[in-house]
Amino acid sequence: MNAGLYGLGEGRKRRWLMVDCGVTFGDPVTTPGIDLIMPDIRFAKAQGAAIEAIILTHAHEDHYGALLDLWPQLKCPVYATPFAAGLLAAKRAAEREAPRIDVRVVAEGSRFDVGPFDVELVPVAHSIPESTALAIRTPVGTVVHTGDWKIDRTPVLGLPTDEARFRAIGDEGVAAIVGDSTNALREGISRSESEVAASLAGLIKTAPGRVAVTTFASNVGRLRAVADAALAADRQVVLVGRAMARATEVARELGYLEGIPDFLSPDAFGYLPRNKVVALMTGSQGEPRAALARVSEGDHPEVTLAKGDRVIFSSRAIPGNEKAVGRIINKLIEGGAEVITDRTHFVHVSGHPRQEELAMLYGWLKPQVLAPVHGEEMHLDGHADFAKSIGVPKVVRIRNGDVVRLAGGPTEIVDDVVNGRMLKDGKVMIFATEPTIGERRRLAFAGVVSIALAFDERGELSGDVSVRFAGLPPRDDEGTSMPEVLRDTVLDCLDGLPRQKRRDHGLVEKAVERAVRGELQTVWGKKPICHVSVVGV
Ligand SMILES: [Zn+2]
Ligand SMILES: [Zn+2]
Repeated sequence: MNAGLYGLGEGRKRRWLMVDCGVTFGDPVTTPGIDLIMPDIRFAKAQGAAIEAIILTHAHEDHYGALLDLWPQLKCPVYATPFAAGLLAAKRAAEREAPRIDVRVVAEGSRFDVGPFDVELVPVAHSIPESTALAIRTPVGTVVHTGDWKIDRTPVLGLPTDEARFRAIGDEGVAAIVGDSTNALREGISRSESEVAASLAGLIKTAPGRVAVTTFASNVGRLRAVADAALAADRQVVLVGRAMARATEVARELGYLEGIPDFLSPDAFGYLPRNKVVALMTGSQGEPRAALARVSEGDHPEVTLAKGDRVIFSSRAIPGNEKAVGRIINKLIEGGAEVITDRTHFVHVSGHPRQEELAMLYGWLKPQVLAPVHGEEMHLDGHADFAKSIGVPKVVRIRNGDVVRLAGGPTEIVDDVVNGRMLKDGKVMIFATEPTIGERRRLAFAGVVSIALAFDERGELSGDVSVRFAGLPPRDDEGTSMPEVLRDTVLDCLDGLPRQKRRDHGLVEKAVERAVRGELQTVWGKKPICHVSVVGV
């Protein structure tokens, strides 16, 4: 969930540039019921009109996925390349009540002023078209924000990382780099997209039956590699999954699929001969509602796979998704398909720089300071150590919310600002610090019990004790039904309360809750959430 702010100027005169506005994804265990997690941008919002613009480095969800939800709080211009702007427009069209964002389309390589910032978009190779690094020039120095990048001298499409521009910027002088740490623990140099393309071509050519390939829909280079391979193997390409259709439509409009025959819709999958079809499918991360999950469950209306068919995962599971991906792989194998992954064949490369690539870029730019970003603690730490080892003069470790001086004075953390996570819960945004998700986790672990009772004027129980629950076992270990256990517990508890005390409903509620939770701890070994309501005079 990338969201960076660059500030220039003192006090009230300070102007800001926001770089990226991304999301991260929830998971059923730690954030049950939450799909999207976004940065808490209260600080940025409080700067009001001092935020000059948001610049998107590229259209991956972790860099632009929060824009539709958060932009209304900022309402500033958004700068994006044609591909990012196209995907944003497609996403907007698919969502109801999406805001009308003020998007300014800027080409890769262009240079423009935003308030006091002079911004150049330097092309970098990555796993999506038109990824850019930002060279942000200011009167006190230049900061290079790398965005996500790698060095790939032979990408399948788009521009390679622009060495000449980086060298030139380095010659002008670079105060600081704020850089991608994802693969900073990995030695060497990452392989090229065109090597993956060659490997995929071989696997598609030799496949005996149907072929299904799953990858991120936004990786247009990879989609193009599959389409080229299909063409060479005299197969037609069927798109399965809405994200595939959306990304390829934008890519085709911008000329990235020149020479590729039109893609077919999913219904073609059934009638094409088995050795004449390649399906490009969404769902490489195990998303339960995506095409591949449904196909693996035998639950897709148009696409089925069987013995002799080949499924290629041209992807790697993002940490946290391994189990979901594993489940789908097992289902596919159970159904008779042959499954190829990056563990068995060379079918994927990462879009992030390894150590030799970091060393190359830092050699071109010769920065005074490096601030590692975009990674887990261990990646940030490894990046810092590696940068020191290759002679970057100063490395500064920043955490979310830190304000660090990168130029115009000694490099140091000068402030920290409000930061954190917002969770999109259905249609409502909540702060991660609010109790909702903690309660939901407790509900998942032990369920909930609701008790209701009424007293008459004399303080006697009126009618039955109502016991309802959800998520509890139906009986205890001795076979007594749980409602019976709980009703007895409540009655015992009431018997122990003097009539005078029963008039204090708050006290009765607390006593019953304590008794019920205590009894369940004894008979069940768990303490669920317990709500008690007492009514009466
Ligand atoms: Zn990223
Ligand atoms: Zn990315």
